[in-house]
Amino acid sequence: RAKQQRLGFRRFTTDHTGDDTSARLTLLGDLRRALDTGDEITLHYQPKIDIGTGELAGVEALARWHHPAKGPISPGEFIPVLEATTLIHRFTHQVLTQALRQARTWLDAGHRIPVAVNISTRTLLDTAFPERVAELLRQTGVPGDQLCIEVTEHSVMNDPDTAIETLRRIRVLGVKTSIDDYGTGYSSMTYLRLLPLDELKIDRSFVKDVATDHGSLALVASTAELGHTLGLRVVAEGIEDAETLDALRAVGCDLAQGFHLARPMAASDLTAVIARHAPVAA
Ligand code: C2E
Ligand code: MG
Ligand code: MG
Ligand code: MG
Repeated sequence: RAKQQRLGFRRFTTDHTGDDTSARLTLLGDLRRALDTGDEITLHYQPKIDIGTGELAGVEALARWHHPAKGPISPGEFIPVLEATTLIHRFTHQVLTQALRQARTWLDAGHRIPVAVNISTRTLLDTAFPERVAELLRQTGVPGDQLCIEVTEHSVMNDPDTAIETLRRIRVLGVKTSIDDYGTGYSSMTYLRLLPLDELKIDRSFVKDVATDHGSLALVASTAELGHTLGLRVVAEGIEDAETLDALRAVGCDLAQGFHLARPMAASDLTAVIARHAPVAA
């Protein structure tokens, strides 16, 4: 009976792996096509709101893939597939290009709305990346300080020395840098101090319980204090209700993001938010 179970288990794992691989290959083929045609992948923008004044402090670009047959596929699903291949570089390039063109459009309309772009581990380790950012800034005529690059704490800790070098070269362009999903990646205080950063985003897993759980609140308060000590702007992500927002304001977070404030939306839908919250360009 034990033998049967083992065989059964083995057959199950083999089948599972096989399915998984072929599904990934199909997805990868579809992604290659999407990157070639260039119209299935678009960006939504989620406001980053100044927690004290309610002003729009910037937006975060979030990739959306509308598969022609399967409908919307979330970034959590397709980015790991891209990340396993060099296609991630083409994807990052398309996202950056779209985001900077959008920032240019806003500037031309008289609005300074800094846009943040997420980059993956592989892009962070690509030594040619900072030069490509410089090139795109030149092409679009967007000032460096209107762009922010978000890297996750996990990505950074994958190869901290290379990350430090890439971030330093990005910052030379005037571009802002942000450490995303902070608190989930086991980075030491030493690295946090060495990283060339402008912003720290506290992960939603710590943010979501601050209104109901003293431990969470204490953790977020001390993280915000650490961020401020290092001269960073502190952002809380994933705020879903008013009580959570109040608690985060009380512990000194600078910026807020979350469904309670605004969902990620198409650039055309952001017009109303801009009219209400955006400072006018100098
Ligand atoms: P992230 O950068 O931490 O982005 C925040 C995610 O949380 C987004 O999910 C956003 O829609 C979601 N979110 C925002 N507010 C709330 C809230 O109040 N409650 C909850 N439950 N969720 C909220 P999304 O768009 O599915 O993206 C997931 C992740 O995929 C992102 O996490 C980011 O790591 C990655 N990603 C998205 N777009 C890109 C991209 O263009 N390039 C790369 N490399 N990664 C991307
Ligand atoms: Mg992000
Ligand atoms: Mg995040
Ligand atoms: Mg996150």
